Amino acid sequence: MAAFLELSTGAKMPVFGLGTWQAPPGKVSDAVKFAIDLGYRHFDCAHLYRNEAEIGNGIQEKIKEGVVKREELFIVSKLWCTFHEKHLIKKSCQDSLDDLKLNYLDLYLMHYPMGFKPGEDFFPHDEKGMIIPSNTDFLATWEAMEELVDCGMVKAIGISNFNHDQMERLLKKPGLKYKPVNNQIECHPYLTQEKLIHYCQSKGISVTAYRPFGAQSLKPGDPVLLEDPKIKEIAARHHKTVAQVLIRFHIQRNVAVIPKSDKRHRLEENFKVFDFELSKEEMDALLGLNRNCRDCVMADCINHKDYPFKAEY
Ligand code: NAP
Repeated sequence: MAAFLELSTGAKMPVFGLGTWQAPPGKVSDAVKFAIDLGYRHFDCAHLYRNEAEIGNGIQEKIKEGVVKREELFIVSKLWCTFHEKHLIKKSCQDSLDDLKLNYLDLYLMHYPMGFKPGEDFFPHDEKGMIIPSNTDFLATWEAMEELVDCGMVKAIGISNFNHDQMERLLKKPGLKYKPVNNQIECHPYLTQEKLIHYCQSKGISVTAYRPFGAQSLKPGDPVLLEDPKIKEIAARHHKTVAQVLIRFHIQRNVAVIPKSDKRHRLEENFKVFDFELSKEEMDALLGLNRNCRDCVMADCINHKDYPFKAEY
């Protein structure tokens, strides 16, 4: 199984990467350095996560030590929803580049199709606790992102949390200059996203799975993916952990996967996924666990005109 996905630009994206959401600034530099030593080459970052400067420190240290060259790394960042207005986009991307101490990103994603009111607050709320939208359209935001490719700040652009209808709208945009190369979506055996992944791949758009270990905001009685008996059984058969099976599941679907950890033993565990193969029956059994159970629902955005999670897929 290839360890890279070829993007429509011809670039190669490592199929396995490190997620960095909630990786605390004090720990994330060490996690990144340790991960690079282990062989991680793909790092999933975002302005929203407020830790890009520390990630940048870790990357720079390893480049200076000669452990890795910039061109061997695949660095992703994302445009947050409060920066969807055209005049804010270049500056926001430049802030990510400055923090990461890079002169280009391999991939820059629109974090959500939804624009929020610009300002200091990344989640601007009204008095009812609902998100205050901006008057932006993701097609116009995309046009400004295309300019980032033209001026060399980013090698490729993509999307995240877009549904099929929103993708169709983008692909049919008059004058579209660059197609998205990637859609980053929540995906795991309780949310298998078969239709959306099939659609993306049929259009030559790669998929990255986020939250591969499933829901983090669990209510009592909710099924816990990491404790699922069927997955435990599959893992035991391969002398692997449930986490390793959950990562391998995506790799065998030609979907990139970006599990997050800031613990050395888990960074090691999560990377050991290239020495076993799930059988067709095991893959089918994992797909059979689907219950369309989404964790990242962004409930405060439900009234937003571009809320992505009401569509069937
Ligand atoms: P995740 O990677 O599924 O889960 C992370 C959690 O699992 C952490 O609490 C981590 O704890 C724990 N963990 C890591 N390895 C483990 C293992 N081997 N066994 C048991 N537990 C383990 O969830 P996520 O961070 O939400 O998703 C991954 C990445 O996707 C994010 O970090 C971010 O980069 C990206 N993401 C993108 C979006 C988007 O809207 N585009 C949304 C969510 C996430 P420790 O750190 O303590 O090990």
